[in-house]
Amino acid sequence: MNTTLNIKKINASIREFSQSLGFEDVGFSRADRLHDLEKPLEKWLKNYCGKDMRYMEKNFELRLDPRKLFEGTRTVISLSFPYFQEDEVRLHGFKIAKYAYGKDYHEEIKKKLRKIEDFMRLHISSDISIRSFVDSAPIMEREWAKRSGLGWIGKNSLMLTKRKGSYFFLAEILVDVDLSEAVSLAKDYCGDCNRCIEACPTEAIVAPYVVDSQKCISYLTIELKEASQADKEISRDKWLFGCDICQEVCPINGKPIITEEAWQKPLPGFEAFNALNIEDLDQEKFDILFSKSPIKRPKFEGFLRNYHLLKP
Ligand code: SF4
Ligand code: SF4
Repeated sequence: MNTTLNIKKINASIREFSQSLGFEDVGFSRADRLHDLEKPLEKWLKNYCGKDMRYMEKNFELRLDPRKLFEGTRTVISLSFPYFQEDEVRLHGFKIAKYAYGKDYHEEIKKKLRKIEDFMRLHISSDISIRSFVDSAPIMEREWAKRSGLGWIGKNSLMLTKRKGSYFFLAEILVDVDLSEAVSLAKDYCGDCNRCIEACPTEAIVAPYVVDSQKCISYLTIELKEASQADKEISRDKWLFGCDICQEVCPINGKPIITEEAWQKPLPGFEAFNALNIEDLDQEKFDILFSKSPIKRPKFEGFLRNYHLLKP
């Protein structure tokens, strides 16, 4: 769309509005095909993509080029949203990833993204085409966050920012207006550090910056539907859902931003689950206890399998 805008001013107002909704960093990059990632992505899909993530292959071109995902896209806006909290939640003594303590982030962050969309329509033009995503579309979100200057991709393959670490959700807004900014890419501060590689209990970080999803506890406890004997033999190291080890050991996460959002506080269903005898957990109770939580992702059967692998 053709429009004359004071990009600096409009981006500052989008940033300010997004931050008022709880987003931390916001960056703007020109939409383009990620040519440099074509070979690495191909290699990763061939060698390290778990069988229940094969759907990623279908959208190969869309993943590389957001203009194919959403026609007319000229700018990718990357946003980060903190989720760290100090308390540790355990379910029957087992650990769950911190991002899953509260309500499902897809729904909660999407509500906020819609507000930003409305804000942009109001302040740019009601005619703009705009789409937003939070971990819900074939888009290389870490690469776009890197390109827009939010941080660097660490050896554990997560987005890191020097002062704020990696406990963030990433979201994207695609828009058919050029709001791109000149960006200084963040320096990679991983340096000689290999703590995440050394601490990973399943040796899933097969090389710096490369995670074999087939060995990663996050994949095994969330995405994997039917576990083979080999999958079962991989130690879950007390993790019932997801895994935070490569974030916990990362020195960059020394002083993470602590979330103030009520929806991210541990859900009451967790306490109720802990009071329950696991033998009494059935589909109906599972649905009630975890209906608002990301924990429902592996479904009742997957959740129970994870539990029994940890406590046979
Ligand atoms: S999430 Fe856990 S299993 Fe996966 S790479 Fe990190 S430390 Fe390893
Ligand atoms: S633990 Fe070290 S190598 Fe791994 S992501 Fe953090 S800084 Fe980088």
